[in-house]
Amino acid sequence: MPIDPSQPYDPDNVFAKILRGELPCKKVYEDDFALAFHDIRPQAPIHVLVIPRGEYVSWDDFTARAGDGEIAGFMRAVGHVTRQLELDGPGYRLLVNMGGDGHQEVPHLHVHIFGGRQFFQMVP
Ligand code: IMP
Repeated sequence: MPIDPSQPYDPDNVFAKILRGELPCKKVYEDDFALAFHDIRPQAPIHVLVIPRGEYVSWDDFTARAGDGEIAGFMRAVGHVTRQLELDGPGYRLLVNMGGDGHQEVPHLHVHIFGGRQFFQMVP
């Protein structure tokens, strides 16, 4: 079920629990701004999620409320992960689902990194 992005942050969402160490994850990278881990239902040979440490429901919420340093740190972390996974050579796809029309299911911002195969051309 897609989330309602206007709802306040739910501290019991699955990614909040992963951040607090209450649920396990297959960790790829972490720093002060972000945590990256393998998606539990991979849609590609490499499917990693990068989430900010801060409590943001969505991309919209993050870009509206986060400070510039937090946004820069998070973006840099996504780049760090793609290079750590050696995807910068072959290439990769980034995806952020936002709200109902974007079919976002987990109400904590996450960037999907897809790699390990060639993807089809994006069509709207
Ligand atoms: P969304 O549709 O952009 O919100 O994607 C949510 C993603 O989170 C999906 O690809 C799920 O497979 C993934 N996911 C849900 N729960 C977990 C978990 O506990 N660990 C890792 N990935 C998860």
